Parts: sequence; C-alpha cells; structure tokens
Amino acid sequence: MPSRSRSPRGNPLVGHGVGNDIPMDAQLGQFLKKQFLLNKLPANTIQEIALLAQQGGAHHMRGLSKLGNNGNACKNISRDLMRASMHNVSVPKPYMVTIPITLPKTKVVALVEHPVLLPSEVLAWMLLNGKFSLKEIVNMQEAQPVMYTRFQDKCNKFHLPETKTIPIGLHGDGVPFQKSTHKQSTIEVLSWNLLFETKSKRVLFSCLPKDMYCKCGCSGRHTLDALLEVLVWDLNMLLGGIIATVRHYGHAWLPTDAERQQHAGKPLEFHAILMVARGDWPWYWQIFNFPAHNAQMMCWRCKATSNGDCAYFNSGENAPWREQRYKVGEFLNDLIKQGVQPCKLFSLPTFTVDDVAMGTLHVMDLGVTAYCLGNVLYEALDYSGLMHNTREGRCCLLWDKLRIYYHVNKIPNQLQGLTINMIKAKNKPPKLRGKGKINRYLVRFALELAWDMHNLHNCWHTQMVLKVMNNLSQLYSIMRMNWCPDLASKHSMDLMDALVDLAKESEQMGWCTWSVKPKYHLMEEMYQYQSYEMGNPDTYNEYLDEDFVGQVAKVALRRGGWGTHKAHALGVMSRYRALLNMWEI
Ligand SMILES: [Zn+2]
Ligand SMILES: [Zn+2]
Repeated sequence: MPSRSRSPRGNPLVGHGVGNDIPMDAQLGQFLKKQFLLNKLPANTIQEIALLAQQGGAHHMRGLSKLGNNGNACKNISRDLMRASMHNVSVPKPYMVTIPITLPKTKVVALVEHPVLLPSEVLAWMLLNGKFSLKEIVNMQEAQPVMYTRFQDKCNKFHLPETKTIPIGLHGDGVPFQKSTHKQSTIEVLSWNLLFETKSKRVLFSCLPKDMYCKCGCSGRHTLDALLEVLVWDLNMLLGGIIATVRHYGHAWLPTDAERQQHAGKPLEFHAILMVARGDWPWYWQIFNFPAHNAQMMCWRCKATSNGDCAYFNSGENAPWREQRYKVGEFLNDLIKQGVQPCKLFSLPTFTVDDVAMGTLHVMDLGVTAYCLGNVLYEALDYSGLMHNTREGRCCLLWDKLRIYYHVNKIPNQLQGLTINMIKAKNKPPKLRGKGKINRYLVRFALELAWDMHNLHNCWHTQMVLKVMNNLSQLYSIMRMNWCPDLASKHSMDLMDALVDLAKESEQMGWCTWSVKPKYHLMEEMYQYQSYEMGNPDTYNEYLDEDFVGQVAKVALRRGGWGTHKAHALGVMSRYRALLNMWEI
C-alpha cells in the first residue's frame, strides 16, 4: 500500500493534503506554508514569492502576499505567517507537563512546562476528521499477520473488543540538528504509529533536545520519566476506553485543559493497545534500562554473555545460551534485584519486554551488514585484482567499479564517494559507513567482489567470505520477496557460523578484520526467535521512523534568540500541528 504521508515524486505541489481539485495557486500557497513550517524557507522570502505570484496573475495569494503589511513590516512577517498557518487548525491542543530540564544558558536543572500531544486525542481527531475509519485501522491482519495473532491474544487476555481496538507502535530516537544554536546536540523524539499498514504516518508525542535532559546524575532519567508518566497515563486511558476525570498524577485540570474537562469521564469510541516499541540499542539502554552492547550480559531475551561458556559467539543449534532464555518477568526482576527501576512503560498491563522489537535497519543495515561490507570491501582493496600500486589508487578503482554497478542496476540509494576511511576508520575494525538504505543496496555488489576474490584465490578464507555474503544476500531477498521465518532462521545461523569461523581465523593470524560483534547476537535473536512472534522485521519500516525524526528536527530548529523554554516548545508544537492538520508530515 502506498504511503499516505509522502508526496509522489515529480510535482512537489501534489501531496495527499492537497487534492487535485484545488486550484494550482492555492496549492502553491499551501506548499509555501509547508516550507515555512519545516524551516526550509524564511517567512520574508515566502511573502516575496507570494507577491510575485500574485502580480503574475495567481488569485489565491492575497493571504500570503499581504503578510507584514505587504512586506513593509519585515519583523512581523514571521509572526503573521505563523498566525495564518494556525488558522483553522483542528489538531488537538498540546497537554502541558511539568518536567525537569537543564536550562541551556545556565546549565541549571529547573522545572518547566513542556507540551506533548496525547495519542488518545490525536486518534479521536483522526477518526472525527475522516482521515481513517475505525474499521480500517483496527485491522492489522494483512499488514502484520504474525503480530496480528499476538494482538488477538492480548485482546482476549484484557477483554478488549477486537473491532474497536487500535493496534499502535511506539518509536524513539534522536537525530543531530543539522544547524542550530545547539549544534552538538540531538533532538530526541517519541512518536507512535498505526499498525494497520506497514508504511503508516508517524505521529509526534514529544520532542526535546538531548542536551536539555536532566543532568543531576540521573542520565536524563528524570526528564524521560516525567514524559513517560503522561504517555503511560494516556495509554492506560486508551485501554480502559474512558476519558480521565483528572490530570495524570491525579491532579485537578488546569485552565489550559478546559476542553478536556468537558469530556472527562465520557467513554471513548475506541481502545488502543501498544503492540511494539522500536528503536536502536542506545535508545533501549536509555529508555528501558536494557544492557548496553558492551555489557557482560548484553541481551534482554537470554542470558548470553560477552565471553565464557554462555558467550554469544558460541554459534550453532546447540549453543549454551539457547538454553538460557529469560522466562516471563525474569529480566525485569533481575533489573530490580540490581537496584534498577524498570521503565514506566512496563507498568502498562499489556506491555512486556518481549514487545520491544529488533528491526532490520539497526540490527542489519547499520550493524551486521555494515560490518560484513566493511570487511569485504577492505579485503577487495588488496585481493580482488584492482591494478594500482597504492591502496588509495585501488580505492579509486573500486569506486569506479561501484559507480558502474550503481548505474547498471539503477540503485536508488547510493554512496556519494568511497574512501578508505569510510571502509575502515583508523584503529577500528572495518565497518562501512553508509547511512539509511545505502548499505543494503551494496550487498549484491559485495557478493560479486567475494566471487572475484574466490575466483582469484580459491582458498578456505575466500570460501568463508563467499558463505557470509551468500547468506546475507539470501536474508535480504527473503525479507523483501518471500518471507519465510524458517529460511531466515537457517540463513542467519549459517551466516553466524561463517562469521565466527572467520573471527577465529582472524584472531589466530592477528588480523584486524572480521572480529565478532554483540550485534551479531541481536541478528540471531531477531531471525531465530523474534520473527516467529512478530513477523518479518523488514515490515516495521524503521526508515519511516528515521525520516520522521529528521522532519521533526527541521521543525524544531531554533531561530533567533533564547526565549523561555515553554514559548519555544509551544512554537515547535504549533508548527508540527499545522503540518499534521495539512496532512503534510
Ligand atoms: Zn535527574
Ligand atoms: Zn539473547
């Protein structure tokens, strides 16, 4: 099913928020507003474009061309355009939460008011405004057949009517600001999505720059907990199906909650249930207190260790860690025994550690696949028959080869160049630095290189490298075309065997290549266990999560000086709500 959230390529004015029956110049007006809200064009440039378009005969430009007293009061243009963009926005108003943050100027921790969007209210808005029908969004059977069984089980267990219960997913991540006053920081975004289709729109819950998280020694826990408290309160409301009569923490409504107060105690027309959480390993460490990748026991599904008998790199069907799987509740109990408070999300009766998913983007594309590609390309520099007497020269020849491969195969996501440093950073094992989807499109290219090297050298090592690339390539084609958990499980096991054999050889020889990585274990968990419970990991489409976070980073750019936190955060939320209202984010 095509994405609802993106414009088809070609004509940037044709988006889902803008019907083709709307005149072209009105579409231009909406397009210009979108550029402003995403911080792509400054307000005065938009006023100038609108004025020129109007002078050229466009009819629907009055609203934009007269901004800031027809452009004469430059300082007011931005304010006027923001007002014009918020006109008729029906997306629910944000819910204000008191959270501790580190003030950017003084670095002092203080309590501030911060806006979030409640999923229950946005869901009600979507249904009321005909974005979707309830019948449509409760049905995840086609999009996620395996997770659908899980959904049915949860509905049964918690007495939720399947025809009125909306399955949703949660995503958290941070991306660096491209340009801003806090250039070193990332913006941390919590978002959710409907699971009835695999490419559904991501919706904002909260966003906050990482450098504003509490720094009292809690590693940001206090800030995150204050936000999660509200999310859990709202998700509990969605389970119960009745609108709360008081604010979270049981406090009385604030003046800003006037509309909420009117609906307090009334039944919602629907329920919603959190089925899955997605993110990368550092985020799981941050939000769920899961072990870090370099911990002695790094897994939250089994007791695999970084060395010893139960080491994760003991591969094969009889590996000891396979006998050491955590029982229900055992992992969280172990955390509590270590004095760690489990994440508030686990206080939801329906949400467990097993609902935290591993996905293809983080585990494979940016993990296992990046390591495999780095190693193969690194070896190809010396052993694939490239004819030049320096390694730099051979890297240029390899890049020429890759450009031809890109051209012939019409690859959509391409590297923009290739240097030795991108294949192997100094003093680190090889790992290809390709972002997003770039790495997965290099798997077939690396398989061809592995064949070239095997044909030239025909030894045990080249045979093993070929085994690695063959299994990796098979995994991607199974995920893309013919999903079969048994086959995916088998290929991931064979891949692990070959990777471990290569690592042993490398260690014996004192090489810097093919070292084992904890992410290899997540790959085994993902294909050999999780896939049977949650289906094809490629269908989670974490790329859309990443794209969304990137867009929020653009919306959240801070222009001008430092006002209060509340004013800035509300401004960001207004921009986002205007975009959501247009169905343009
Ligand atoms: Zn703190
Ligand atoms: Zn494990």
